[in-house]
Amino acid sequence: MKPFIELNSVTYYHSNSIGFMSSTNRILNKVSLNIYKGEILCIVGESGCGKTTLVKILSGLLKVNTGVVKYSDDLASSKKSIQILFQNSDELLNPYRKVADVLYDVKANEKSLEKILSDLNISESLLESSCGSISGGERQRIALARVMLTQPQVLILDEPFSAQDIDSKENFKSLLTYLRKNQKITLIIVTHDVSLIENFTDRIVVLFGGEIMEISDAKKFFNFPKHPYSKFLLSSTKYKLPIEFTNSQFEDTKSACPYYSRCNKRDEKCIDDIMIHSEENSYIFCNNPYLEISTEGK
Ligand code: SF4
Repeated sequence: MKPFIELNSVTYYHSNSIGFMSSTNRILNKVSLNIYKGEILCIVGESGCGKTTLVKILSGLLKVNTGVVKYSDDLASSKKSIQILFQNSDELLNPYRKVADVLYDVKANEKSLEKILSDLNISESLLESSCGSISGGERQRIALARVMLTQPQVLILDEPFSAQDIDSKENFKSLLTYLRKNQKITLIIVTHDVSLIENFTDRIVVLFGGEIMEISDAKKFFNFPKHPYSKFLLSSTKYKLPIEFTNSQFEDTKSACPYYSRCNKRDEKCIDDIMIHSEENSYIFCNNPYLEISTEGK
């Protein structure tokens, strides 16, 4: 299948200079990834791992320093084809405005508006409320409706579950699944909470220190994670990420692998190079992954 979006060895960094001193803060390093039409792809990793930068590059908000981003002809022909919904919908919606006015700002035709309101279960009474008086879950739905009115082909959601209670998170996931099925939309979701995407996503990309650790079919990932960092993610209590790393900490790592200083499977090979193991629908960027041992023929 031809990719909808293709990233090839993408690197992104900030250069800082003070007087004669200059330094480079690397955010993403040689990221290669294909995204396919109609899939739900989740990008997981700790704060500061480069997830938000990656989706800004995918949506065209940031330009890469090196590498190539290619869009399918379909996507390249329309500027609104890729939309991004950032995590803080509170900032997106003016609390003093009526929900209806916020939605009518987007010049959608009557039919699309009715469809979105019905798909997202937005009632007449909610339309008449002010944005400041509705719950976090409702605000998230209104922000989603606003973006959906532009009829994107790819929707990127950055930490979409962060400001919601458990019920709202589940409802929001059902809504996204419905939109994918009925509007054939491609969803890219960024989250630090792996527990929320089990039984929801098609594929997972695990990022650490600005690099991809594993790209995996979701079922395989949850049943048998292969990268040591993926294993750590799934074994930590309820999949929560306990430590926040910053980019400067990644810069201290002198080995080829950004996970080296935390890895219990590291060896001297990891200082110079990282091997790529590929299986059907999965890529593991590691010299010593947890691979299944075949007992066939024994
Ligand atoms: S085994 Fe080596 S390459 Fe794999 S995660 Fe550990 S340090 Fe990185």
